[in-house]
Amino acid sequence: MFKHFSLTLIAILFLTNTTFSAEPEVIKLSEGIYGFIGKKGAANSGFVVTNEGVVVIDTQGPKDLALHLKKKIQEITDKPIVYVINTHYHGDHTFGNQYFNEAKEIISHENTKKNLTEKDTQHREQFKKSFGENSLEGFELTLPTKTFKNTLSLRIGGKTIELAYLGKGHTDGDIIVYFPIERIMFGGDLLYKERLPWLGDAYISDWIETLKNLKNFDAGIYVPGHGGAGNIDMLFNLQQYLIDLQREVKKYIAKGKTIDEIKKEIKLPKYKNWLKYKEWLPLNADRVCKELSAQRQE
Ligand SMILES: [Zn+2]
Repeated sequence: MFKHFSLTLIAILFLTNTTFSAEPEVIKLSEGIYGFIGKKGAANSGFVVTNEGVVVIDTQGPKDLALHLKKKIQEITDKPIVYVINTHYHGDHTFGNQYFNEAKEIISHENTKKNLTEKDTQHREQFKKSFGENSLEGFELTLPTKTFKNTLSLRIGGKTIELAYLGKGHTDGDIIVYFPIERIMFGGDLLYKERLPWLGDAYISDWIETLKNLKNFDAGIYVPGHGGAGNIDMLFNLQQYLIDLQREVKKYIAKGKTIDEIKKEIKLPKYKNWLKYKEWLPLNADRVCKELSAQRQE
């Protein structure tokens, strides 16, 4: 009897585990506002359900994740999707756009549309490196239809949504999505929680400054581009990481080390528990070296 019970329990745990922890998690942040939190540091999305329709913040990618996001929205509401917001151009946030193209507008910063267009070939290659050779089967580039430079306000179904570009950072087109009444901020990839940032397109010195601008928004809940929702600590922690990374790289340069030596030797043990620490710290250091040598040549 006991044996049977424990086997059943194991089976339930196993099923629970495979069914849920392998999937992104939908969390309710406030009335009508939801976070869609990627597993193991994968990209996050959000959505806002109002009586005038749904606003989607980042459409995921590849296809299965985009459709999963759509399914989760449809489980909560049968209202149509009216707006899509892309926080920046990276495919894990935008390549699902085609599955939400019933939206009246796909909104982004002007540089996001520019990057999606001009960097298309290399962007697809980079995406396939991360998600697999077949990850773009059936993919159709679906560009933003409405872009802006500094700020844009949306009012829909009683919700106020402020979009703002606060300076270069993770890319040259990152925007934040801010709910002033609910004090909720979706930071896109300007914010990470307990995961090393991807710096492939980043402007690290600018990013540190841009994060200062982010502090001017009064929020109680922050949803990063990767990692769980939390409070403003994630902003300070990421800013400190970028500062520490720059400082550490500069120390090695001062000792006359080459880029390859720095990539091999660099350690930032304070962040060793963050996801991607081992894999991306050398890449992060490489990016800092390149940015510093570009700055020296200016
Ligand atoms: Zn990104």
